This record gives sequence, structure tokens and C-alpha cells, in this order.
Amino acid sequence: MEELVKLDYEYNALEPYIDEATMRIHHSKHHQAYVDKYNAAVKGTALEGLGVEEVLKSLNNVPDNVKHAVINNGGGVWNHNLFWKLLKKDTAMPEELKKAIEDSFGSFEKFKEEFTNASLTQFGSGWAWLVKDGNQLKVVKTSNQDTPISQGLKPILALDVWEHAYYLKYQNRRPEYVENFFNVVNWDEVLRLFKE
Ligand code: MN
Repeated sequence: MEELVKLDYEYNALEPYIDEATMRIHHSKHHQAYVDKYNAAVKGTALEGLGVEEVLKSLNNVPDNVKHAVINNGGGVWNHNLFWKLLKKDTAMPEELKKAIEDSFGSFEKFKEEFTNASLTQFGSGWAWLVKDGNQLKVVKTSNQDTPISQGLKPILALDVWEHAYYLKYQNRRPEYVENFFNVVNWDEVLRLFKE
């Protein structure tokens, strides 16, 4: 069973890049709905006592009759738990992280270009990710609420590109949302996850 996590900041903390109304609805309605549906799916099963992360890392152990609900709603729970932690205004890029990004992509600009491209080419709902795969950093994208942790990857940066994440402010302008996302990345948290 999972609970809706509390945010470390107010709904208006990311203005003007991510607006207060979007944050409120995204967290209190969309994220809450994933929590509720996930809990309903695992209730009464052997998964009930496990954390959602453990469940998502071992989808082979999830009974077929709830697998679809667990992937969609458990993924929705876990992905958003991570996403909220990755948002903060005015953090600087730590030297150690910059070096790791340059080692894997050649330059920060190249990484940003690849991450932006993944965000814009994800057709329909999904996520763009920066993940650790062994010692390498890679950009990947997933559909719906599929999560890289189910593929043995460790996400250290995530961008929600579902329309519910940006439509109130940006409507069809996903590129503007993605560009502005780079103003609210919590690079300290990215580094912490990278070193974890
Ligand atoms: Mn979302």
C-alpha cells in the first residue's frame, strides 16, 4: 500500500515555469488517483506488504490479473514520487555531475539536446529520463507510466510529458514546457541520485 507523498515545497514554488494550478491538480488529483488505483489493485494480494519500488523492479512476481494495473498505477505512483523531488528553482550544476554528463554525452548542450529530443518525440503520454546504466548515463523515454526501474535502470532525472503536466499553461506548446523545465531542475538531487 502506498500513500500520496507530501511535496517539499508549495504548489506555487515553481512559478512561472510550472504554474500553481497545474501543480495542485497534478499532485492532489492525478498522483492521488494513481495511489488509490494502485492500492486497490494490490489489496488482498501478496504485493500488499511490499513497497511499490520493489514491486516494479520484479514485475515477473506480479500476478497476471493485476499486472496491467500495477504497471500503470504503480508506475504512476513511483514516477511522480521521483519527479517532485527533482523540481527546484535556482540550483547550480554541481561540477561532479557536469563532468559525468560530459563523459557520457560530450557536453551539457549535447545532453540537453538529446533529452529535449526524447521529450518531444515521445508520441502521446510518457516520460523522458536520464538514467544510469552501469557507469554510463543514457537518455531514454517510456510510454504511459512505464518506468525504467522495471528495466534495471536507475533514473536520475525525469520529465513528465503527459499533457496533464503542462496543458493548463502551455496547451500544445510542449517544446516551451520542456525548455522551461531546465529552469526548475534540482541538480543537487540529480547528483545525489547519481552517487547513490
Ligand atoms: Mn503526471
